Amino acid sequence: MTQEEILEVDILICGAGVVGLAIAMTLAKKYSVAVIEQHSGPARETSSHNSGVIHAGIYYETGSLKHRLCQEGNSRMYEWCDSHSVDAIQSGKLIVAFDDSELDQLQEVYQQGIKNTVRDFEQITIQQIHDLEPELNVVGALWSPWTGVVDAYNLAKSYERAALEANAFIAYQHKLTNVDKLGSQFVSTLIDTNQQISTVKSDVLVNCGGLMADKIANIVGYDLSGDEKKGLPVLQQSINRGRYYDIIDPDICRLISRPIYPLPDHQAGGLGVHLTTDTNGGLHLGPSMEWMNDDESPNYLNELDEFWLAAFLDAGARFLPQLKKEHLAPGQVGYRPKIQKEGEGLTDFLIWEDEGYVHLGGIESPGLTASLPIADQVMSLIS
Ligand SMILES: Cc1cc2nc3c(=O)[nH]c(=O)nc-3n(C[C@H](O)[C@H](O)[C@H](O)COP(=O)(O)OP(=O)(O)OC[C@H]3O[C@@H](n4cnc5c(N)ncnc54)[C@H](O)[C@@H]3O)c2cc1C
Repeated sequence: MTQEEILEVDILICGAGVVGLAIAMTLAKKYSVAVIEQHSGPARETSSHNSGVIHAGIYYETGSLKHRLCQEGNSRMYEWCDSHSVDAIQSGKLIVAFDDSELDQLQEVYQQGIKNTVRDFEQITIQQIHDLEPELNVVGALWSPWTGVVDAYNLAKSYERAALEANAFIAYQHKLTNVDKLGSQFVSTLIDTNQQISTVKSDVLVNCGGLMADKIANIVGYDLSGDEKKGLPVLQQSINRGRYYDIIDPDICRLISRPIYPLPDHQAGGLGVHLTTDTNGGLHLGPSMEWMNDDESPNYLNELDEFWLAAFLDAGARFLPQLKKEHLAPGQVGYRPKIQKEGEGLTDFLIWEDEGYVHLGGIESPGLTASLPIADQVMSLIS
């Protein structure tokens, strides 16, 4: 886009991660849609730095958006991947207790999964655990056969293709820097990598800015601390880093066939350092749960660090006692955008509409799994 150009569309979506692109392809069936993204292609941030697990909806509060959209997203994800040539494997997943002291909490997770009507979720016997994962030495496990893994980057590419086929316009290397309201229209200012300024006018502005969603809301003019009396939710996000270490010994990788999770630690900010398989036969340990200070910004480099190497070795040896330091190397790093604050319990996704402005906040896990139903939710909010 150039300075002279003023693009006018029904809907402007800021952010081309999986969520922004899923929304773009869905809304473009009915409206004129433009997507702007600061990077040179889709899914350069959280959407390509995650565990790639197709979740089944076990942990979340019953009836919450995370629960409902994840559960619906689970079956739709397999169908989508099948019909759009995206690699996905319905591997199933185990949640395990390493010793007797963890059995009560394992039971709580089981009860939550049953309450959430997670498909075919069950407690299995030691023999069944052994049949599924012979190398695991645990005292109990839950089995979720509909959990799986997906190639997250190619999922985003498939959404991008579908959005373009539905005539959405996508402008990469364009960063949203300012938003004014002119009557009922949004006038958004963008800057490209050559410092060229351009303008988009839209009736609706959908904020899928991921880690930057709160900063974008601030640009639009919202007070991030919220105001219950005015129906304004808290928009402020905290960021929680999740780093991974990869298992680089192919013989060790072959020992495990599916994601294996410890008990969750929601207050720490995640589901616990787990073993995740990927669609290419890789095996990864992670993600860590590290609350970031307000002045820190995401850094996607994960340099070898003796502290983290030792921590991941400890976490990994619980699953695979034969694991050694030389089997591990730093992997990817992802960043969770959270409405939840450090020390608080799990919070829900925030999908909120206000006079044509649609805010997607706290879209952490299971946002990948839930991306298709999230798009439908946005469609119903603006229709
Ligand atoms: C460690 C980790 C593990 C996870 N594991 C899983 C999992 O196993 N299963 C699962 O279902 N989910 C998982 N998730 C969650 C999932 O990855 C996210 O919910 C999902 O990727 C969010 O997608 P998004 O499009 O909202 O955000 P993003 O992918 O972050 O996209 C936001 C986009 O907005 C762009 N943007 C921001 N500001 C501007 C601006 N001013 N102008 C233009 N563009 C802008 C950014 O560049 C970015 O591309 C995990 C997340 C993390 C961090």
